[in-house]
Amino acid sequence: QVNNKLNIATIGYGGMGTYHVHGLISAEADYLQVVGIYDIDQERKDVAEETGTYVYPAFEAILDDPEVDAILIATPNDSHKELAIRAMKSGKHVICEKPVAMNTEEFDEMITVAEETGRVLMVHQNRRWDPDFLQVKDIFTKRQAVGDVFQIESRVHGANGIPGDWRHLKAHGGGMVLDWGIHLFDQLLWLVDSPIKSVHSDLSYILGDEVDDGFMAYITFENGIRAHVEVGTSNFISLPRWYIKGNQGTAIIEDWEMNGRIVKATGNDVENKPSPIRAGVGLTKTMAPPVDGVTETLPLPESKPADVSFYRNFYDVVTVGAEPIVKNEEVRQVMQLIDSILK
Ligand code: NAD
Repeated sequence: QVNNKLNIATIGYGGMGTYHVHGLISAEADYLQVVGIYDIDQERKDVAEETGTYVYPAFEAILDDPEVDAILIATPNDSHKELAIRAMKSGKHVICEKPVAMNTEEFDEMITVAEETGRVLMVHQNRRWDPDFLQVKDIFTKRQAVGDVFQIESRVHGANGIPGDWRHLKAHGGGMVLDWGIHLFDQLLWLVDSPIKSVHSDLSYILGDEVDDGFMAYITFENGIRAHVEVGTSNFISLPRWYIKGNQGTAIIEDWEMNGRIVKATGNDVENKPSPIRAGVGLTKTMAPPVDGVTETLPLPESKPADVSFYRNFYDVVTVGAEPIVKNEEVRQVMQLIDSILK
């Protein structure tokens, strides 16, 4: 530590490593500083050097550098365990990208080394603070929004297939369960405070890769809540990001721009009852729209952005033993769910 700042070296200078170095860590420069990066790819090292970032000649050089307090791992998923363990054994704290490991067994090895060495190991589950998810959390916890929530549907849909190189390969921990599932299940388990009762899932292989290019999972909780979680990479029309059903209303959040609405029962006593409507070549009363006055359409409630800095919290955990905002017990529960889905 120099001038009370934590010195961080980033391993992996691809998409996420670059994002961390330039976007986030530099914004927290009063208490964190990036002292350098390491990547196995010469091209990425050249890019780092061109932008004035120091490039370590080898991973071992980071481990041997007493100035480095912590490493940030942003490499493909299969390399996280070994890099984290070697770093902790060399006295470094670790921020690790999601998914922290390939499975719970690997993560347990990492937790054991964190405990043995007394080093901090914290996983970057950043999507807990996504505005759309915080909105869902608000709707879920404030009963007046849609009443008691009994069903949650959480989806991300793309039409670009699986991006990049290693995400196509099993050996590197590719596939959408480990890539996007980990975020959506982390959000779900952070939302619903109840043990899981059952898990059904179906992985898709539309693109012919050896890893899943999407999946559907149906999870029931012991408190009765049901969740449908879906990731797709061949969806040329996207379904809404969130669809939340409560016993008094339904909420929809279309996208990350927070387009959406709530339709809610007014509780008004109206005389008229729904009349049958023609639907297709049949007749239905069940599916007729509610009569006037029975429901109202509302905008999504105001929801405050999170006043949370993952990096500040990491600094506080390392320096004063603060409580981590992403706890390893929580990450472990998500990894266990991932294990059962992949099985
Ligand atoms: P990427 O392919 O863009 O970058 C990975 C980099 O790591 C490459 O430059 C590669 O050369 C380098 N690398 C590979 N093995 C290495 C090793 N052993 N030592 C040093 N460097 C090595 O991948 P990405 O999209 O940046 O993903 C990296 C990690 O970040 C993954 O675990 C991914 O799941 C995670 N990620 C997280 C988020 C998020 O929102 N939290 C978003 C994207 C990616």
